[in-house]
Amino acid sequence: MNEKLKQLESDFKLALVAVENSVELKELESEYLGKQWKLKAILAWVKDLSIDDKKTVWVAANALKNEFSELLSQKSQSLEDAYFKDIEEKEALDVSIGFASQKLWHKHPISHATELLEDIFISLGFKIEDGPQIEDERHNFDMLNIPDNHPARDVWDTFWISDTINKHKKSWEKYLLRTHTSPVQVRTMISQELPIKIIVPGRVFRYEQEDARHTSNFYQLEWLVVGEWVTFWDLKWTLDTVMKQLLWEKTELRFRPSIFPFTEPSAEVDVSCQICSGTGIRDAKKCSMCSGTGWVELLGAWMVHPTVFEGCGIDPMKYSGFAFGMWIDRIAAQRFWVSSSRMFYQNKLKLNEQF
Ligand SMILES: [Zn+2]
Repeated sequence: MNEKLKQLESDFKLALVAVENSVELKELESEYLGKQWKLKAILAWVKDLSIDDKKTVWVAANALKNEFSELLSQKSQSLEDAYFKDIEEKEALDVSIGFASQKLWHKHPISHATELLEDIFISLGFKIEDGPQIEDERHNFDMLNIPDNHPARDVWDTFWISDTINKHKKSWEKYLLRTHTSPVQVRTMISQELPIKIIVPGRVFRYEQEDARHTSNFYQLEWLVVGEWVTFWDLKWTLDTVMKQLLWEKTELRFRPSIFPFTEPSAEVDVSCQICSGTGIRDAKKCSMCSGTGWVELLGAWMVHPTVFEGCGIDPMKYSGFAFGMWIDRIAAQRFWVSSSRMFYQNKLKLNEQF
């Protein structure tokens, strides 16, 4: 009889190991401990035994039944643990995934210089204006006192939009890539109330021979002040204040008389070269940024021409104004000590990552 119980125990343990889920576990429990339980069938033999033997078998059978119950309970717990562990692994959210590959990028020096300039001008009470990069000839030239036959047009090598688009336009309304940000002056004076105090940062285009200071695509910042009693003294004070804040306190300015067709009087303004500290020499060679002169031409400055005011419906007998146009690229080169403006357009991360 003991042999039969041992065989039953062995069969049960083998079957328990093979159980993979709770449904199979229930079936096993029913098979061994349910109404038709196998132990019951074995105990049918007991009736033919002596009283002492019956007692021994019943004790052994009860111990086996308790052991089966305990083993079934342990298996149930281990199946439950495995189930939740599986869910944990499948639904786990790894918040650090990909983080190591993230890289912080840098602002382009031109964007950086533009934002510095905007901050300075906003602190002086200027507003920021914008305009189209594809401009019509009227706003880019005619309304700025540069008619078609004016020799001043020769100094601008201009990118014209293709003949297919321009052929339906009047001769003075053809499209071009704007050669300066000055058309925004006209658009602002026509559309806004006086007084005006604006800056216009933006991209402009010229068909240039490229060198350390010239590129065919560059960024200008123009500013315009129009009101009563605006004088050339205001122009000089504003320019001096901005340059000293942008570069450094000892930056020197040099005004040279010049002629711009839409201005009167006009000046070109140079700053002492920050790359060579105004000496013209860098690393025992001629400084390429200032061509060895110690000065860098940074901008044109002027009082607005009365004809431009009249074209925009402003009385030149009552109002006056001044404007500047500067090369942001050259400002960025001077501010961040970059020896050639061309480097800004070469897409080299080695340069950008330094700022
Ligand atoms: Zn220099």
